Amino acid sequence: MTPTQLNETGTPISSGQPMIVARNVEKWYSNHFHVLRGVSLTVNTGEVVVVMGPSGSGKSTFIRTFNALEPYQKGSIEVDGITLSHDLKNIETIRREVGMVFQQFNLFPHLTVLQNVTLAPIWVRRWPKAKAEAVAVQLLERVGILEQARKYPGQLSGGQQQRVAIARALAMQPKVMLFDEPTSALDPEMVREVLDVMRTLAGEGMTMVCVTHEVGFAREVADRVVLMADGLLVEEATPQEFFSNPQAERSQQFLSQIL
Ligand code: ADP
Ligand code: MG
Repeated sequence: MTPTQLNETGTPISSGQPMIVARNVEKWYSNHFHVLRGVSLTVNTGEVVVVMGPSGSGKSTFIRTFNALEPYQKGSIEVDGITLSHDLKNIETIRREVGMVFQQFNLFPHLTVLQNVTLAPIWVRRWPKAKAEAVAVQLLERVGILEQARKYPGQLSGGQQQRVAIARALAMQPKVMLFDEPTSALDPEMVREVLDVMRTLAGEGMTMVCVTHEVGFAREVADRVVLMADGLLVEEATPQEFFSNPQAERSQQFLSQIL
């Protein structure tokens, strides 16, 4: 497969080509807990897929297999044409291609905002500090937080920290971004500023997989919504179909709880 083309902001140009292809992925925790029981999903370049489902259904585990944060035992995963082997041989390459944003931000508390964003480009991409800082400044501006560049994460609000986390992930110029409940730890008044950044990113053509229960975001931004339950993908539909006419009983149950 040919490498993905990038536009002038470093975002992959939507081509409809598969970016992530997961086939029958199975995973056990501690050799006996069957957490993923054969999950298949294709995410095309430029697509936004929202993953929903009850707590404990395997959503985090599943998306963490896409950047080799979790090993899996059966099935296959390809990201941008690179096979993610079970033994995690391609970790380095994959981590450069796949950005991730976590519920708890996971910023480095002892580094400033600017240092958080430049760390990986300097150490992993081997960019000169000046280049890494120039790119970081652009990104911090893009997420609306440049004036906080010299502060430490602990001095920022949750919404600001999460926007820094997004900038940090984007600094590696990933081809796909994974979001694991990025607004779940935020006070309600900060949810919107983070969703706005995600919406903008989606509008620019970024390929995104988002675990989120933000229905408004899913309706507006997702190309597809998938529902996971008990380690299985039980439904995959457009947001319109999913929210107005869910087919699986588990989807109906789930929606009756969150809507
Ligand atoms: P979700 O993100 O949908 O809430 P997770 O992927 O976090 O679900 O977890 C799925 C299941 O796997 C849960 O029952 C959880 O307790 C279990 N689990 C998650 N991480 C581990 C781990 N490191 N070791 C053992 N069990 C785990
Ligand atoms: Mg989770």
